[in-house]
Amino acid sequence: MTAPTPVTPPVTPDVLTIPRKQPDGGKRNLVGLPRDAMRAALIEMGTPEKQAKMRVGQIWAWIYERGVRDFDQMTNLSKAYRAELAETFEITIPEIVRKAESEDGTRKYLVRIAGGHEVETVYIPEEGRGTLCISSQVGCTLTCSFCHTGTQKLVRNLTAAEIVGQVMLARDDLGEWPEPGHHPKNETRLLSNIVLMGMGEPLYNFENVRDAMKIAMDPEGISLSRRRITLSTSGVVPEIARTAEEIGCLLAVSFHATTDEVRDRLVPINKRWNIEKLLEALRAYPKLSNSERITFEYVMLAGVNDSDEDAHRLIELIRGIPAKINLIPFNEWPGTEHKRSSNNRIRAFADIIYKAGYASPIRTPRGEDIMAACGQLKSDTERERKSRRQIEAETGAA
Ligand code: SAH
Ligand code: SF4
Repeated sequence: MTAPTPVTPPVTPDVLTIPRKQPDGGKRNLVGLPRDAMRAALIEMGTPEKQAKMRVGQIWAWIYERGVRDFDQMTNLSKAYRAELAETFEITIPEIVRKAESEDGTRKYLVRIAGGHEVETVYIPEEGRGTLCISSQVGCTLTCSFCHTGTQKLVRNLTAAEIVGQVMLARDDLGEWPEPGHHPKNETRLLSNIVLMGMGEPLYNFENVRDAMKIAMDPEGISLSRRRITLSTSGVVPEIARTAEEIGCLLAVSFHATTDEVRDRLVPINKRWNIEKLLEALRAYPKLSNSERITFEYVMLAGVNDSDEDAHRLIELIRGIPAKINLIPFNEWPGTEHKRSSNNRIRAFADIIYKAGYASPIRTPRGEDIMAACGQLKSDTERERKSRRQIEAETGAA
């Protein structure tokens, strides 16, 4: 491996994730364990191998289909077995410490995780569906110049339990665990979609994001279709193929610029994997059906990336990739140097793209009054900031 540049420090989940296995004496959390790991844990506890698969099925359904967190309520298990489970394991998800509700119905949860750190999770109700925007890291190693999270140092990766736990705590808050005998159907769900667009770069926490999304997709549990999960990356090229193979969810890419010179400044990971390398990885993404196009996210920054020439260049660049372009009006945050493009400019840009045959929806900012909109998330209580010098060095801003 070549030596990492400061743009993309060597973030490995093993270093930054708190251990999955509790130290001796502590109870191990069952939440976040993939089925095979749960099976191994039950066998280690003394469950006969022949029974282990069935026990996983039972416990899995209680936790992920019913939302049960107390072994005593698992009434299809014997009392003795329940007691044994309770002595060895726990079923724990992160805690909501504060909840804010926007005028438009958007809910922002401040979520406390082990170690006293906090991340934000946002629920966005829409006509006929509801999307949960979840975080994958506390802070971010990257320093995209327009992103509030980018001003906060990476504290650590979230565990798989903390990632799928955000889905579970939102279902708690929405009162959406089904009654016994009912299996959730997508059409009627308040929480019907997941976007990995909260704090952090999900592809720098690959294994935990994968395990958490596999759990969310499992048909015997939360049971969300892979087509209802979208992972957004700033462009961690080597992990893009793996995303298709190992998770199989939809992909969104934070594109945001049409020349390397501008993208180097806005999305500094571009210095490591430039536009050409990124597009190459996207072209190799398995052939997608029309409903499974790659989403190109494009934040509209006045005078920076929003000209007609940019729109034309964008069309040329993405030629041949099944794509839709999601234009995101920039959401301001305290201290930012950027300004949102005017509505007319955004519309003119969208028009050029639309006429070239691509869907070009303009994302309506949601929850702005509670600082819940895209790119505004940042833990209030997290004091560790990147220094201005570090941000300037990494974004190339003079
Ligand atoms: N780290 C991942 C996912 C989190 S950011 C990524 O960068 O893709 C989710 C989306 O919000 C990204 O497209 C990001 O570029 C965008 N975003 C960040 N800050 C923003 C802001 N202030 N206004 C609008 N969109 C923003
Ligand atoms: Fe990190 Fe994404 Fe924000 Fe860039 S846009 S700083 S990758 S969270």
